[in-house]
Amino acid sequence: MFAINFHNKIEAILSDKIERTILISEVNAVSGGSINNAYCLTTNHDKYFIKKNQADRYPEMFEKEAKGLDLLRESGAIRIPDVIGLGEFDNTSFLIMEFIESATQKPNFWKQFGQQLAQLHQNTNSTFGLDHSNYIGSLYQQNNPYNNWTDFYINERLQAQLKLARDNNQIDIATISKFENLYKRLDEIFPKESPALVHGDLWSGNFMVDEVGQPVIMDPAVYYGHREMDLAMTKLFGGFDDELYDSYNKCYPMEKGWENRVDICNLYPLMVHVNLFGGGYLGQVKSIVSKFD
Ligand code: ADP
Repeated sequence: MFAINFHNKIEAILSDKIERTILISEVNAVSGGSINNAYCLTTNHDKYFIKKNQADRYPEMFEKEAKGLDLLRESGAIRIPDVIGLGEFDNTSFLIMEFIESATQKPNFWKQFGQQLAQLHQNTNSTFGLDHSNYIGSLYQQNNPYNNWTDFYINERLQAQLKLARDNNQIDIATISKFENLYKRLDEIFPKESPALVHGDLWSGNFMVDEVGQPVIMDPAVYYGHREMDLAMTKLFGGFDDELYDSYNKCYPMEKGWENRVDICNLYPLMVHVNLFGGGYLGQVKSIVSKFD
């Protein structure tokens, strides 16, 4: 499944890292991702997970993903897969991680997930943003620092996606002007909170159940933002149990009315979907912003 040179390169990296000769015996495609090609590598030592893409298409994508994973792991809040190595070979960029074997959820899975997410969100920073840009899916995500959440959300998130959609003729002027109306209200809509370390792309495809039935999160688009962004995103496509919110709320109570802000938070991932996958998602965007006429 891999070209021989690439296969040899990965074996060399693994052997170097593990400090013994690693030979890959099987390469099996892993489905579920939306951007990269992912595989499980079976070797004479262990299994590994590798994702790869065309290097010149998405510069530094895996470096940034590894940095995001490191930041989340350093919080000590929740299990994050270990990064084994990354690099570029013949215009193929790749990221190698430990392979997470899936088992069934422990009975307290959602309770634990809620507690761990609450713990993650208690990691704070002096400003909203991050010290580097990264990616959300395959789109560039800018993270310039702001003292105020709504300024950050407008400039670094919504406007950035609107501009891209406009440049690609994916959005009409009337919808853009509705965003302008929403912007004037954002300060009163969002409760003031400290910047929280967020996963940034927390849909059900980005968590797994590990071999002992506990949560693992991966494929992040990290930044210090409003914690409701993560909670809202869990509700966008479903797949998260209500127990998670109960447990989260006990550890780190959410501000009143957070459910009413879910749609506003989800304007960002919805606009990302408009830009990644086309206008099919624009209907949802329009129905949210039309409430702010
Ligand atoms: P993409 O960057 O293309 O979105 P993901 O990182 O989401 O790819 O990975 C694709 C799928 O592979 C995930 O939905 C998950 O099921 C699985 N996966 C991700 N990381 C690992 C891992 N470390 N071990 C085993 N499976 C993984």
